[in-house]
Amino acid sequence: MRYVSTRGYDAKQGFCDILLEGLAPDGGLYLPAFYPQVDDAMLTRWRSLSYAELAFEVLSLYIDDIAAQDLRAICAKTYTEAVFGTKAIVPLRRLHDKADAAPLYLQALSNGPTLAFKDMAMQLLGNLFEYELARRGETLNILGATSGDTGSAAEYAMRGKRGVAVFMTSPHGRMSPFQQAQMFSLMDDNIHNIAIEGVFDDCQDIVKAVSGDLVFKRRYRIGTVNSINWARLAAQVVYYFAGYFQATGHNSEKVSFSVPSGNFGNVCAGHVARMMGLPIDTLIVATNENDVLDEFFRTGMYRVRSSADTRETSSPSMDISKASNFERFVFDLLGRDASRTRELFERQLKQPGFFDLSADPLFAQAARSFGFASGRSAHRDRIATIRDADARFGVVIDTHTADGLKVAREHQRADTPMVVLETALPIKFSQAIVEALGHEPPRPAGFEGIESLPKRVTILPAQAQAVKDYLASHCAAIALPVG
Ligand SMILES: *Cc1c(COP(=O)(O)O)cnc(C)c1O
Repeated sequence: MRYVSTRGYDAKQGFCDILLEGLAPDGGLYLPAFYPQVDDAMLTRWRSLSYAELAFEVLSLYIDDIAAQDLRAICAKTYTEAVFGTKAIVPLRRLHDKADAAPLYLQALSNGPTLAFKDMAMQLLGNLFEYELARRGETLNILGATSGDTGSAAEYAMRGKRGVAVFMTSPHGRMSPFQQAQMFSLMDDNIHNIAIEGVFDDCQDIVKAVSGDLVFKRRYRIGTVNSINWARLAAQVVYYFAGYFQATGHNSEKVSFSVPSGNFGNVCAGHVARMMGLPIDTLIVATNENDVLDEFFRTGMYRVRSSADTRETSSPSMDISKASNFERFVFDLLGRDASRTRELFERQLKQPGFFDLSADPLFAQAARSFGFASGRSAHRDRIATIRDADARFGVVIDTHTADGLKVAREHQRADTPMVVLETALPIKFSQAIVEALGHEPPRPAGFEGIESLPKRVTILPAQAQAVKDYLASHCAAIALPVG
């Protein structure tokens, strides 16, 4: 498979080259040159596969520069019952509802090591990185910024892996006690936690500044695992297939998915699955108060928010000012017109800071041809939905999943089953559960008392130079040619 950029750069490389890269050289995002198509016979065969085998089948359509037996072994090693808690890996749970309505399901994506759906892709990435770096005889130092879920998923995926180290910045004192405990209790030599005396935006600015120093970046082999990484998206495509198979008896049925959304990575994987021919009816983009995406799908206006206009909410992993993967969908919506995509994202988002497709006939296609719908949820909706799910279905859901369920219920139809993606377990955000239900959420086995484990973290001021100094003294530099 050849990869292209949403802004026109035509990469001659394959999957493994873009695996270790972030943005394309022209500032765009990588996408496969085309979406491989699945047919009825393939879907029928895939129905009976284990999750790891299904992952191999889907991924091998996008990865032709890793030998089939190696890719199969990587998938088998990644998606195990030991790591994800169940044999099904992403089991569906039926939420018993009105007798005359099509079934409503919750798809568990949060039973990996860090209890959020980011593990689904990051665990695979850890094994792919280790494989590819060993093959090249190279090492990589991953520098990242996290407000919680991404950082811990990256650290648990990379811990103990050969050839790779993680340097994760987070805003000092701002993550939930559970999230801090998850990250800071890791004692692996290749994991470095850096608490920045500032907010999440400071962490992101520091990562940008360090990565923008190209000489430093090369000398210390700095890389990233942020949400625009194509490999993460490709891994996420798999669970849409697995969810579809569990919700249907045969391939003539359609299913809708409701997806708690922030950076548009999760639902973009659903878009890819739909483009491949998986019979998805509607992809419902559920946002919280930070409703950049809901506004677009309702009005055609994409308006990036300022930091001051980005609200801190009780579903914090969806608190975004812009949706970093959204450009991929717009590229497809515009018929893969790279120069128009570039005009919107490179120019109009800088000045005037928004673009408006409402008058464009293509915008109507977002719903009609691409199956998108959207909705928004706020704090009181989350609390009411968590209470309602507990009372009606006997299930405790987290705040992000509550956003997804709230919006799903507004789009339920009598003839189409609805799958709500569960993106985290409630223990990660227990404060809101206590507010809704008056008691602590259930704590999965193995997480008892993690808040009192010893912690390892370095506190640094919000200055790029301080982080550079730390990196320089903890990673081996490579000699660069002079000039
Ligand atoms: C990251 C995250 C989201 C948002 O996913 P995107 O891919 O950024 O849209 C939603 N819920 C939880 C719990 C997350 O960690």
